[in-house]
Formats: sequence, structure tokens, C-alpha cells
Amino acid sequence: MTCEHALTARLSLPSSSTPVYKEECTQCFDNQDTAEGVDVCLSCFNGGCPGGPYNHAHQHSMKSGHYLTLNIRRIAKPSSDSDERPAKLTKLEIREDTGADDFEYHTFVRCWGCSGARVESGLENIDPTVQAVIHAVEASKGHEIKAWAEEVTACQHFNDLSGQAPRDSFSLDTLHQCSACDKRENLWLCLTCGNVGCGRRQYDGSGGNNHGISHYEATGHCVSVKLGTITPEGTADAYCYTCDDNKMDPHLAAHLKVFGINVAAQQKTEKSIAELQLDQNLKFDFSMTTADGAKLEPVAGPGLTGLKNLGNSCYMASVLQCVFGIDRFRDRYFPTAADHFATCTQANPAQCLLCQLHKLANGLWSGRYANLETDSEGRPAHQAGIAPSTFKAAVAKEHYEFSTMRQQDAFEFLLHLEKQVDVVERS
Ligand SMILES: [Zn+2]
Ligand SMILES: [Zn+2]
Ligand SMILES: [Zn+2]
Ligand SMILES: [Zn+2]
Ligand SMILES: [Zn+2]
Ligand SMILES: [Zn+2]
Ligand SMILES: [Zn+2]
Repeated sequence: MTCEHALTARLSLPSSSTPVYKEECTQCFDNQDTAEGVDVCLSCFNGGCPGGPYNHAHQHSMKSGHYLTLNIRRIAKPSSDSDERPAKLTKLEIREDTGADDFEYHTFVRCWGCSGARVESGLENIDPTVQAVIHAVEASKGHEIKAWAEEVTACQHFNDLSGQAPRDSFSLDTLHQCSACDKRENLWLCLTCGNVGCGRRQYDGSGGNNHGISHYEATGHCVSVKLGTITPEGTADAYCYTCDDNKMDPHLAAHLKVFGINVAAQQKTEKSIAELQLDQNLKFDFSMTTADGAKLEPVAGPGLTGLKNLGNSCYMASVLQCVFGIDRFRDRYFPTAADHFATCTQANPAQCLLCQLHKLANGLWSGRYANLETDSEGRPAHQAGIAPSTFKAAVAKEHYEFSTMRQQDAFEFLLHLEKQVDVVERS
């Protein structure tokens, strides 16, 4: 059908920085994988569940007067080998994996001004916005990629290198071994003089012999790149000892050319720090054994709902599980969720910390999202859990540390959470 709402709609396109909530409802954890899918508001790009017990899409429409939504439903394509573990994530794959190959997407436009009826497709005042929503990056991935990319910045010390004359006497053979010991991996090239030094010793005695850092201490040469992480695209793990942080070198190709190293011919052989961090995350996610080797029993139910790791977010998950496990905290946010959603005056639930507290309380305590999957032998295995992405974005909004993907101190996060809750509850 077409209706007056559709024919007269004047919609705009989401900008590249507008979050498009197309994978999950912003007020509950119903998502695009459910039978009803998710309704993305074509006026403000809020995501709402269009059915089930909550029907937040309808509620959003009635409160905002935004009648037109795009319903998106995702269906996994049957795979030939469904037991196969997904390939390990890398930083690069987070960006590039659209999942398009593994899923089919079904979409249609709906008008809530006409009781949720389907609107015929291809109307020229609606279609460009529909296409923009279909092609937009999911809000949660947008947060993640931004956080990862912002993580590593350049510093002045790399610019200070520019204009060095080529070192004709430099021998590429020196790149294979630390100049001070026999280590042949985890090697760092000093971009000032070409010295090769091994990486830091880890607390458990593994790693290198600290010859990279002792070169800096002896000479003041502060910037280096990790050999084996250099890609033909001109990226590499770089480190500045003066800033004492991971950095990116915006002029890497030029800096390596000084030593006769052609970036385009490099092959990445060692894991980058981002990859190592994601490996670490996967381990945290999948280890079901305690330190002393006892196997943990999988459980699920109201109050026993897992929180997915968003990437170094275990500090937040553990604090949230503890805090929402406190009776008074649960009672404040779980039974009252529907009341808040009905009366909340914030235009965008994703921006409202109270909405997000209620959403999470409902997610953890309703039991609706705590479903144990079974392993190949039919025994209960792990639960998919819920991803506290919109909560994290709301609570960490402008915080310079918690808005990143880095590991953080759980106690500091608890203090931050307390302060934020205090502010919204008093306002
Ligand atoms: Zn919902
Ligand atoms: Zn809207
Ligand atoms: Zn209508
Ligand atoms: Zn060494
Ligand atoms: Zn040096
Ligand atoms: Zn620096
Ligand atoms: Zn709210």
C-alpha cells in the first residue's frame, strides 16, 4: 500500500557520524535475528523491536510522530560445516567483515501511522534513506572501530625524523637478529639509527631481553617499529619511548626508505598489538576453566545472563554483573523499565542513561536472553549473552578512558558508574 504518511514524508539521509541502530532495539535486547527483526526509524535512525512483549518500535513512533520505519531481519545462511569455529578476529577483519556473505537480509518499509502496514517499496522520497540505512555501519561497530582507530595516534617524535639522508652503508642483514643478543623475533628497529633491539621481557620471563628499550636509554632515540608487523600498505606497530605508548608513524614508508627498506615488498609475519589484544580477548571469552583447573558448569536464567565481551570490556562486565546483582539496584531498574520507557522524554533512548540502565536490567533479569546453546553432544554449553554496547556508549560517552577499547581498572569504572547514576537520578 501507499499512504499519506509515505507520500508526504520528507526524510533526510544519516550522515557518516549518525549512529544507525539497525542490529538491536535501543530499549531491549531483541535484535535483527529475531523473527520480527528490528525497525529502524527512517527519521531519527533509532532502533526498536516491532513486536514481541515490548514493541518499542510502535512506542517510539507514537511518542515521536516518526511513522515510517525500515524493518530489517537477518537470517543466517545454512553453512556446510556449522561446527567450525569462526576464524579468529583481527583488527582488520572487524572493519571489513560485513557479514554479508553469511547472512541474508530481508527488509521492508512499514508505516506505524497505519497500524504498522507494509508500504510499497521504491517511493522516490523514501528509497534513498532506505538505501542509506541498509548500507550504514551498525551503530555498535561504528563505536568499536572509532575507538580502536582513535586508540593509536601519531606523535611529534615521528615528524622530527623527517629529512634524514639515506644510510647507504646500512645492511638489511642486520634486521634478522637483535644487535645485542641472539633473539630473532619480537625485534624493534630504531628509526633514528637503524639499530635492531629485542622487545621487553615479560613478567613471566618470556619475551625479549629489553635491548630495544636499553638502546633508547643509552641514546635517546625514541621511535621504533616492530619488524614483522610492517604491511605493504605502510602500517606497522610503532612505539615511542618518550611518550611511552603505542603510536602510528604517518610517514613510515619514507622513514624505512632511509634504511633501504621498501614497504611495498614487506610481508607481515608477526602479530600486531591489536591482534594480540583480540587473541587475549578470545581467551577470556572461551576459557571455562578456573585457574586451578576446575571445569565451570554453564548456567542460565533470570539473573544468570551473560555479558558479551566488546573487546577489553571485561572490567565493565564484571562490575555490571555485581552491581545489577544487588537487590535494590535490580528493583530500581528491572520492574520499572516499561514505566520509564513510556514516560521518558529523551528523543533518543540510546542517549538516555536511564533508558540504558533499564534496558540492561531487563536484559540481565528477564531471563529472555539467557539461552544455553548445546555442544555437539547435546550438553548445555555456553550462552550467547547480551552485548552491552549501547549501555557502554551511554555511560562512557565523553569519558576519555572508558570510551576507548582499552583495558581499564574495574574499581575506577565502578566509581564512574556511581557518579553517572547519581547525576541522572537527581536530575
Ligand atoms: Zn525493544
Ligand atoms: Zn524516530
Ligand atoms: Zn501511513
Ligand atoms: Zn636483545
Ligand atoms: Zn637508535
Ligand atoms: Zn613520542
Ligand atoms: Zn530514557
